[in-house]
Amino acid sequence: MTAEMIAGELAATTRKHDWRLLVGGELVPARSGATFSDPSPVTGAVIATVPDADATDVDAAVQAARAAFPAWAATPLPERVAAVREIANRVRTHAAELGALDTLDGGNIARLARADAVSGAAMLDFFADSAHALTGQTIPASEGAVHYTTLQPIGVVARIVPYNHPIMFAAGKIAAPLIAGNCVLLKPPHQAPLSALRLGELIAHLVPPGVVSILTGAGPATGEAIVRHPQIRRIAFIGSAPTGQKIQEAAAQTGIKDVSLELGGKNALLAFPDADPVEVAEAAVRGMNFTWSGQSCGSTSRLVVHRSLHDRVVAEVVARISAMRIGDPFDETTDVGALVSQDQYAKVLRYLDIARGEGARVAVGGTPVEGDALIVPPTVFTGVTPGMRIAQEEVFGPLLSVIPFDTEEEAIAIANGVEYGLTAAVWTNDVRRAHRVAAAVEAGYVWINGSSRHYVGTPFGGVKSSGLGREECVEELLSFTETKAVHLAYR
Ligand code: NAD
Repeated sequence: MTAEMIAGELAATTRKHDWRLLVGGELVPARSGATFSDPSPVTGAVIATVPDADATDVDAAVQAARAAFPAWAATPLPERVAAVREIANRVRTHAAELGALDTLDGGNIARLARADAVSGAAMLDFFADSAHALTGQTIPASEGAVHYTTLQPIGVVARIVPYNHPIMFAAGKIAAPLIAGNCVLLKPPHQAPLSALRLGELIAHLVPPGVVSILTGAGPATGEAIVRHPQIRRIAFIGSAPTGQKIQEAAAQTGIKDVSLELGGKNALLAFPDADPVEVAEAAVRGMNFTWSGQSCGSTSRLVVHRSLHDRVVAEVVARISAMRIGDPFDETTDVGALVSQDQYAKVLRYLDIARGEGARVAVGGTPVEGDALIVPPTVFTGVTPGMRIAQEEVFGPLLSVIPFDTEEEAIAIANGVEYGLTAAVWTNDVRRAHRVAAAVEAGYVWINGSSRHYVGTPFGGVKSSGLGREECVEELLSFTETKAVHLAYR
């Protein structure tokens, strides 16, 4: 079957399918009956009609969650662990199907979209494995008494996730709340909601009704209703910095709420003169996540390279990009697929113009691929200076800016001279410089002689406008608990 046929057949199925929310253990339409059309960035056609949940649906999910909470919180930990492992197994078994939905719905290339489903399952397993971290302490605070702490679940918590890794986030991000004993409302992205809704079908009966709810919506309203709901006091958000700021504001207006934020980045890869230019080029291409069309928060979208390496590194980067296969994301040999939506495509085209207008030069790419799919090829800009918008603002597209430097101080100043602080990569063979620079860069996740890769179990998250809190680690699990101190007098 050709890639085009796979897309066509899948779209015929998704169009006919009755997509439903998961609320109170049931698959239901939005109470108002409202729906929205979900277009594919691969074919350009509408591929599904999706429920548009409003505040009434959110409240129904919250009430079902509140009803389910006491029993779920009291469920012995091994049983919660078993349920989460069951969810992981179900996701793994259906990885091909879930990945294909993401490819059609979000444009990610087939082999990586499948891998995303497997990563989501791995994250579920990681938190099942980490359940033993839910322990308290005893503290010798006074004589004749025992002072101890317990970690208690919070209650009804929310997970609002973005579009770039739809199934990985939908599956993986419900794990920590569930293991900790919470009931969770998941809000998938409107651009690519199908894999999360399919997840709802697959897991509806693996946990008691109300423990997991999945609510899709056409725009910000569904997420806003979740954030403003008075009985949701813990909101874990992954998305853009402007939305994160709105969420903090809305949360503060409606209660005392615990908000964690995993936001955007304008991350730097710093290449020092002693680094191998070929290795740097490989790391820069990998670090830019061109295989996700650059739509990854951790992408090192600024290649800050010592002037002595500049030309060689740029030539190697261009050679590697020129060898990438760009096109149909369903084709198993494709390396770069489509951007998620018309809006995101238009934004990336706008930044191509902005960069050119600022005087940056295109070393490779720069012209969108013709056809139905929303494809911008990997693009490298040289002649970029640190103050340009292309060097300051998150594009979330396949645009890499190369910025030369002369001294270590200058390199650090460039790296830190942006609003964001998510990741950074340091390339050098000088061990002192490596640690010095890693300590000096304002970022939450730093690779020395590496890029792009996430290591499950190590804390991921940002500083400055890149967010608050850490995920993919035990800290994420603990962030869904409250500490209670108990004092027992025995004298
Ligand atoms: P976005 O902020 O537009 O939307 C994210 C989610 O929030 C979606 O589900 C959306 O429907 C919802 N939402 C939108 N407005 C809302 C509101 N007012 N209240 C509540 N919810 C609302 O982000 P996006 O465009 O989907 O994703 C791209 C962004 O996500 C980039 O900035 C990227 O860097 C970031 N991101 C960060 C991480 C991380 O771990 N730090 C990971 C992936 C993506």
